[in-house]
Amino acid sequence: MRSEELYEEAKKLLCGGVNSPVRAMKPYPFYTKNAKGPMIFDIDGNSYIDYCLAYGPLILGHANPVIMESISRQLEMGWSYGTPIENEIKLAKKIVRHVPCVEMVRFVNTGTEATMGAIRLARGFTGKNKIIKIEGGFHGAHDSVLVKAGSGATTFGEPDSLGVPEDFARNTIVIPFNDVEALENIVEEDSDIAGFILEPVMGNAGCILPKNDYLKEIRRISSRKDVLLIFDEVITGFRLGMGGAQEYFKVTPDIVTLGKILGAGFPIGAFGGRKEIMEFISPAGKVYQAGTFNANPISMCASLASMDEIEKGRAHEKANSACEKLVSGLKDLIEDSNLKIQVNQITSMFSMFFSENPVVDYKSAISGDKEKFLEFQRLLMKKGVFFPPSMFETCFLSCTHDGSDIELTLNAIESALREVYL
Ligand code: PMP
Repeated sequence: MRSEELYEEAKKLLCGGVNSPVRAMKPYPFYTKNAKGPMIFDIDGNSYIDYCLAYGPLILGHANPVIMESISRQLEMGWSYGTPIENEIKLAKKIVRHVPCVEMVRFVNTGTEATMGAIRLARGFTGKNKIIKIEGGFHGAHDSVLVKAGSGATTFGEPDSLGVPEDFARNTIVIPFNDVEALENIVEEDSDIAGFILEPVMGNAGCILPKNDYLKEIRRISSRKDVLLIFDEVITGFRLGMGGAQEYFKVTPDIVTLGKILGAGFPIGAFGGRKEIMEFISPAGKVYQAGTFNANPISMCASLASMDEIEKGRAHEKANSACEKLVSGLKDLIEDSNLKIQVNQITSMFSMFFSENPVVDYKSAISGDKEKFLEFQRLLMKKGVFFPPSMFETCFLSCTHDGSDIELTLNAIESALREVYL
């Protein structure tokens, strides 16, 4: 296998053989040759219906032709100027139009940079020091948020990273998801809290939904205590609809962080909020944020093309309906065979937890059988279906996943489950 050979070589040159921990797979990851629509193809001639979809950005599927065309036009004009361009204004207008809390925006390159900027902004604006985050919530790989983090940090059993000074971690308070009382207690006790950052739907300990009025309650409490509410919508932004989770649940945060779908697969991040808050960002204000590649012309152009395409092509409707079909078939399978598997879903994202009990927070997520999930995931790959290689990642659908993909996937799942539970 060429993938195996490349991995052996990679291990000598790249840390752990990969460039991001979630890409590591046992016994070795497949190396991708190309991808199109819902399909990803490896260099050994295997093809997979893709539910990882680059971990979320590709609601239009791989290699969308409209985006490709618009980027090639941009390429002819150059791709990095270090000066402002008109497209960044056009894209800002679109975000302001769609995302309820945003009046002004700063474009960066990754979700990590977006949450880093948003947290510094919350501290600068409020003059307070601490932040609250959710146990198992993931907001990128920077010091303030690498405390009980999800995604790769959970998968590899290292919720805290070496190299994060204790003094930093001390300023990050961790509470469970869906627990209003925990937030209430902390904000009553501590008057030095600048912001509360959370994924309104958790996506990095698997897909975990907020309970009934959870988001409304935390909005009420944070407003009362002058704690800025930061929705990290790097996953949910433009996935739960053009206005993200804040529009879906009708709860408006003070600051939002965006990434993934916003860039259609190109590097992007953004954070935005009310003008009075955002004007603290340099050069308007004194909270420093800068970047050589901020608002880079390729990402701006891909993003604009993709926003139009998502709306014109009714991408949400198509992806949601494919996901509902898949999840309803999956639930039937689980019920018919009386399996102890939980399925969480919202719009076009879902997760399977090999667990007896409903998954409502990090603790219930990690109580599942992650080894069994991995066995299932490997079997699925042999049958031509690629789920992310961890029970703590979310599966995504695109508008290119059609009825026959769903049927093939359900057949593969049925046969993999049979083998797992033999
Ligand atoms: N926030 C959330 C909710 C994420 O899921 C991620 C990445 N998976 C990030 C932030 C970090 O984004 P990036 O990988 O683009 O730095």
